[in-house]
Amino acid sequence: MRQFWRSLLDLAFPRACASCGQPPGLDAGHLCWDCVAGLPLIAPPFCSVCGDPAEGVTEAEFVCGWCRDKTPPFERARSAVRYHGAIRDLLHAFKYQGAIHLAPDLGELLEGCVRAHYSDELLDAVCFVPLYPARERERGYNQSRLLAADLARRRGLPLMPRLLSRIRPTATQTRLSAPARAENVRGAFAVADPGWVRGRRLLLVDDVMTTGSTVGECARALRAAGAWRVFVATVARGG
Ligand SMILES: [Zn+2]
Ligand SMILES: [Zn+2]
Repeated sequence: MRQFWRSLLDLAFPRACASCGQPPGLDAGHLCWDCVAGLPLIAPPFCSVCGDPAEGVTEAEFVCGWCRDKTPPFERARSAVRYHGAIRDLLHAFKYQGAIHLAPDLGELLEGCVRAHYSDELLDAVCFVPLYPARERERGYNQSRLLAADLARRRGLPLMPRLLSRIRPTATQTRLSAPARAENVRGAFAVADPGWVRGRRLLLVDDVMTTGSTVGECARALRAAGAWRVFVATVARGG
């Protein structure tokens, strides 16, 4: 029945793939199957701690130089795809151009990653990287919250929307070096309810992870508030 209505709607309002513009096909989301099949999914080998994919590494299990130098404040981080090509444009539209209708498509990618790397028994709740309130008002939404909400619903986990807050505005990380990124977000996050956080295992969601300084700073705040374990999941991995 759902397919019937979908095909009727497709006749009335022809849909186009958000990436290539072709009709996405029955039962597909806003991306056609070809574009989904062409996504640069992250496969091993990747760092067993931060999940960063590595070229030329042959061991199945390895820890990258960054994580060996300095243990990250999160236990593990994993991302669904590399921040390349079409997905880069989609995430940009999702984050800056109000393309929030892409949340289920991106959420499905994220959920595939979470399902592959974290068992449900490992997690008590889902939280996300918050925006500074003025920035969120200006944008009208927080893209990471939309992803976290979609994921929480798919996994049947509670979403903690007010657990983390950004207590000072920060410059966008895009054009900063790795040390400048870390400095930019230092002390930028606070935990609203340390009593609740204590002893919990949390999944922290963001759209893109590059150097890991933003999710790292959030994880540090959560751990300082007593969180037992913090796992990270993002749709894409830049670098
Ligand atoms: Zn397409
Ligand atoms: Zn690593």
